[in-house]
Amino acid sequence: MGVNKEAYKSLLAAMQPSGATLIAVSKTKPSEDIQELYALGQRDFGENYVQELIKKQAELPTDIRWHFIGHLQTNKVKMIAPFVHLIHGVDSIKLLEAIDKEGRKINKKINCLLQVHVAREETKFGLDLAEARQAAAMYFLEKKYPNVALCGIMGMASFSEDQELLKKEFSDLKNIYDEIRSLYGPDASAFNTLSMGMSGDYPLALASGSNMVRVGSLLFGHRS
Ligand SMILES: *Cc1c(COP(=O)(O)O)cnc(C)c1O
Repeated sequence: MGVNKEAYKSLLAAMQPSGATLIAVSKTKPSEDIQELYALGQRDFGENYVQELIKKQAELPTDIRWHFIGHLQTNKVKMIAPFVHLIHGVDSIKLLEAIDKEGRKINKKINCLLQVHVAREETKFGLDLAEARQAAAMYFLEKKYPNVALCGIMGMASFSEDQELLKKEFSDLKNIYDEIRSLYGPDASAFNTLSMGMSGDYPLALASGSNMVRVGSLLFGHRS
């Protein structure tokens, strides 16, 4: 247990040239580990499970920016909506609608990323490219979700050592991100986040244009 401080320092150094944001993924790890990284200045933390996030949010400093990076069920949106900083895993129109509805109820514009599926694996959640385009059109053209702030794209590459495959998948994510930004121009000025890269592939993700990486095991050790 405990945080790998050397890994933290080298991660920060790797992000520095591009100014990318590091999300420390603390799922399954105790609050003490979060405190340790917090003491070093880290403020952005990522969690995958609603119950776990709620428990940690209640006992940890209030200036932590909590990122929900897991698959979110529509009936659980209300449990995290009041305090969540950014929901990365918007993987269906139904979820986007549920988030908007909850935002209206609590009078908050909720920051969201569209999760786009590019990996080969069947199991990874996400919109395909056509669905992502459709969601963006409904948001930017039809102004359908006024209580959502659509901030960008999130994606995961395949769990693979094949660098060419990873490069292709990261560039697919970068392309849809760029496409939406250019399509909606000034309206999309807040659509400025490309969340990609994890412990195993963050250098390639950064080289491919990521400006937000989500790193867990490299910082906190392997999860059981
Ligand atoms: C767990 C998780 C991460 C972090 O994975 P590591 O390989 O431990 O860095 C990043 N993103 C998502 C969506 C995750 O579920």
